[in-house]
Amino acid sequence: MLELTTDIQYLKGVGEKRANLLRKKGIDSVGALLLYFPRAYLDWRHSTLLAECPFAETAVVKAKIVTPVRERAVRKGMTLYQFLAEDESAQMMVTLYNQKFLAEKLHVGAEYLFYGKVSGDFSLRQMSSPEIAESTAPSIQPIYPASPGVSSKMIEKLVRSALSLCETFPDILPEEIRRRNGLCDYRYAVRSIHFPALSEALESAKRRLVFEELFVLQTGLSFLKKRQRSTAGFTVQNGDWKAFSQSLPFSLTGAQQRVIHECVQDMKSGRSMNRLVQGDVGSGKTAVASALCYVAAQNGFQAAFMAPTEILAEQHFETLQGMIGKMGVTCALLTGSMTKKQKAQIKQDLQEGKIDVAIGTHALLTDDVEFARLGLVITDEQHRFGVVQRGKLGAKGQNPHTLVMSATPIPRTLGLIIYGDLDVSILDEIPRGRQKIATYCVDSSYRERIYRFLLKQLQEGRQAYVVCPLVEEEENSDLQSAEEYYENLKDGPFSSYSVGLLHGKMRPKDKETVMRRFAAGEIGLLVSTTVVEVGVDVPNATVMLIENAERFGLSQLHQLRGRVGRGVYASTCILISDSRSKDTLARLRIIQNHHDGFVIADEDLKLRGPGDFLGNRQHGLPEMKIADLFADREILHAAGLESERLFGEDPLLEKPEHDTLKKAIETLYKRLNEN
Ligand code: ADP
Ligand code: MG
Repeated sequence: MLELTTDIQYLKGVGEKRANLLRKKGIDSVGALLLYFPRAYLDWRHSTLLAECPFAETAVVKAKIVTPVRERAVRKGMTLYQFLAEDESAQMMVTLYNQKFLAEKLHVGAEYLFYGKVSGDFSLRQMSSPEIAESTAPSIQPIYPASPGVSSKMIEKLVRSALSLCETFPDILPEEIRRRNGLCDYRYAVRSIHFPALSEALESAKRRLVFEELFVLQTGLSFLKKRQRSTAGFTVQNGDWKAFSQSLPFSLTGAQQRVIHECVQDMKSGRSMNRLVQGDVGSGKTAVASALCYVAAQNGFQAAFMAPTEILAEQHFETLQGMIGKMGVTCALLTGSMTKKQKAQIKQDLQEGKIDVAIGTHALLTDDVEFARLGLVITDEQHRFGVVQRGKLGAKGQNPHTLVMSATPIPRTLGLIIYGDLDVSILDEIPRGRQKIATYCVDSSYRERIYRFLLKQLQEGRQAYVVCPLVEEEENSDLQSAEEYYENLKDGPFSSYSVGLLHGKMRPKDKETVMRRFAAGEIGLLVSTTVVEVGVDVPNATVMLIENAERFGLSQLHQLRGRVGRGVYASTCILISDSRSKDTLARLRIIQNHHDGFVIADEDLKLRGPGDFLGNRQHGLPEMKIADLFADREILHAAGLESERLFGEDPLLEKPEHDTLKKAIETLYKRLNEN
């Protein structure tokens, strides 16, 4: 008896050799075969009159064979089979290459359907290697992604056989959920996705399978989240941070208060916190981190605060000194560039528990740094830290609470999924009184005027950034390179000011030096690539000029813009682009008109689609087979609600009707681990 779990090798028509080829495509069982979806459909139902087929386009033609099939060996190993076919409007010459088997099946005088590209001219139309089907029962034919040794036809045949031989089709979705959401059952769905009788059947099959995929994903992630909550090494008894907020020179935004509260609740719960704070540039993430370090110290445990660069670590150190150092919390900076002696002292103090909060770069991760009672680990700008690095620091304490702070807004719907194993808090409020950064999008004819504006800002004592897409000049490229730009500016219009260069190919030490000199005001104009993206605070910088702005993603442009407008001075962001593409200009206009990172991320997602949006990011999600996280976001939402509901009813999936779902989740975990 055939079941969905039956190994693919035992399906009729599959031997050991084919099974191996199929396994390479991820088809290892009958169930997996049924979930190997067509990439397109060939609709044999709609044929076109030959005379009306445009040349060089594919079409389905219904025609009668009017001459016997002529066999012609053109050279060794190449035999042509040719015949004429006609419909009421015209004739065409059909050519098959080496398809003896097919050619022998065709009958003169019979009518067939031909699918292919019409070539030739009005005097003689031609079709080479068309797909040919009987004209009696035209239907919709699935086309599968083929690979060497596995043709679309072969998969089609196997799917047909699996559908007819398989006896039980256990449904992952409990009946109640199907009913509530108007979804068809599994058997009907797989049959219709492969061999849809009608377009409507295809639609409802798709909806059901998308729902299922998103439902399994979300349910699986919720379980993961629950499972990872281990008992915390340190629990907050006294969660009072009033004294902290009262000591600040400003009042915390509502969002900051809410997020601090959420984190403190986590740390009180007895389970270790595992949370992500997503906050737009300038939303005040450092103050949130300070509050939590303060709470940790009040409760007698240590905190570690990691930043991706030394300068950022130094800035955080100074900020924390100012905010909580004066309240009796002992803070210390530990970075790679300190002297051996300094480092040794701090390490000893950490080990003896004399230091409450350690701030640093990944140097905090080295094996000889030991903490007496590490209970809280915060990493800033997490997209620069790998999961492994995060885990390493975590291992230094006993299940410390972990908080990850990211300045890259991910649209809410996606964020919940991408950070599946983390709880997410959102800092969606910018402190009051912050001025908007005036943003302009212009073409390069404005460059002279822009330089005059830059010079004026420098004269007034302000600083500016210029960002270029390339590091060095490349052949055949119209793109601005940072090196060339830097040479031109420093010897040209800006020769009386200090111009600096910063790019990713420089040694880390040199980068730090340049950045430090810029932060100290010794460099007035900094020509850079996107390495300035990460959260350094230079309040005196007021202009962000971006060359070839069309080359950057919207979220990236938003991050870059966030480098200015951090002080009391009015700030400007200028995007230069000579692109004439309507889409590109529409994208740049979004930056010009919006200042909220989440709105921009949403727009970006809409324009690019999730594939591109998530593109190179290491998000660790399994690839979706049929669902599109953006286009199907309504189904995503509905499936999420059902997943939550199920979680409430049967938190361990113990009911027999949830057996199939449980198995599907186990398969998902396997795929997650393989990623
Ligand atoms: P980011 O979220 O980008 O890391 P920062 O933590 O660097 O933002 O904060 C940006 C600036 O805003 C800092 O100068 C900080 O002192 C200030 N700031 C933070 N919170 C508030 C607040 N509630 N009111 C006013 N200014 C604030
Ligand atoms: Mg920051």
